[in-house]
Amino acid sequence: MNSVLVLNQDYSPLTICSVHRAFLLVFLEKAELLNIVEELQLRSISQSYPFPSVIKINRYVTMPYKGVVLSRHNIFRRDSHKCQYCGTSKELTLDHLIPKSKGGKSTWTNLVTACKKCNARKGDDSPEQVGMKLKNTPMKPSYISFLRSANGVLREEWKPYLNPQKASA
Ligand SMILES: [Zn+2]
Repeated sequence: MNSVLVLNQDYSPLTICSVHRAFLLVFLEKAELLNIVEELQLRSISQSYPFPSVIKINRYVTMPYKGVVLSRHNIFRRDSHKCQYCGTSKELTLDHLIPKSKGGKSTWTNLVTACKKCNARKGDDSPEQVGMKLKNTPMKPSYISFLRSANGVLREEWKPYLNPQKASA
């Protein structure tokens, strides 16, 4: 409950911040409240304030593109530290769907998390050739979806604001 979704002036998702920071932005009239947590309130000694859940900043902010860096660690994170074939979280490696030897590249869509066993079983073939099925289609994570999974938060009331197409732009 301690994070707030921040939208840009054009309603595109920008980042996630703390409730405290969101409160200050609204208090200083730099942002407006779009959504609050009804069951909660922020209290000072003499007053109470709405508990922010989604805010929109008033002036458009140009953000340098925040891509998620392609790395072993981030692939594991995208795949929730689970082998994408059997689901184990032991002895994880990176698997090239189209093997390197066949021109497969190291990209978000060609790399998945696989345990040593599955990786060995798959060998230099494609998953289809050996009858192995992926649990998820590998995708390039958007910054926002990554932030969200990193914090373990997926708030119901955020969903309408997190249009994946916009978020990955
Ligand atoms: Zn496996």
